[in-house]
Amino acid sequence: MEIVLATRNKNKIKEISRALKIPGLNILTMDNFRNIPEVIEDRRTLKENALKKASEVNSRTGHISLSDDSGLEVDFLKGAPGVYSARFAGEGCTYQDNNNKLLRSLDGVPQSKRGALFRTVIVIKVPGREPVVVEGRCRGKIAFKNKGSRGFGYDPIFIPSNYKKTYAEMSLSYKNRISHRGKALEKAKRVLLSLMKKLSGRSVGG
Ligand code: IMP
Repeated sequence: MEIVLATRNKNKIKEISRALKIPGLNILTMDNFRNIPEVIEDRRTLKENALKKASEVNSRTGHISLSDDSGLEVDFLKGAPGVYSARFAGEGCTYQDNNNKLLRSLDGVPQSKRGALFRTVIVIKVPGREPVVVEGRCRGKIAFKNKGSRGFGYDPIFIPSNYKKTYAEMSLSYKNRISHRGKALEKAKRVLLSLMKKLSGRSVGG
């Protein structure tokens, strides 16, 4: 079975491909379909963005698509940046700009009030079928400063609950085991395995 990941983000492709190593599953990315434009993430929730990405990529490629949308919801900021996590510090900002802005927004806020929730919504869309939506969550705290050099995005300032290290101080395989995306991918893997069972011997639309 072949699926297309609805992303060109190299970090995500790496995390997703590692987590979805299934014999018989061939993972394509948007780099295999260079003439398809980037899907604009302009919806108001992670789920709506993921549904939009999966359905556009599905209809443009004709392949089963898998999209994900993630966001960091900080308690003290009433759930911000949430769906706007990628551009928290403004259009075209860097990961470091976002981290700096978040650390500044929590300046003077004690550890007990630095709680946050990382969420990933994954949508799997088979041509001609209703999309399947799964979600993974990881609660934690926002660190007082950047720590670690692995990963991407908010990894250097997010400390999962019951851990002392940030995501950026963990190996990718360890992060995948406990992270919001890792948990969502575990569920997605189960969906794909059952799809592969159902579709084996049949055409994908049928
Ligand atoms: P996206 O919409 O799924 O691309 O995620 C939005 C933003 O959330 C990204 O640009 C990153 O800043 C952040 N983000 C998503 N997943 C992670 C993660 O696993 N670690 C750190 N930051 C992440």
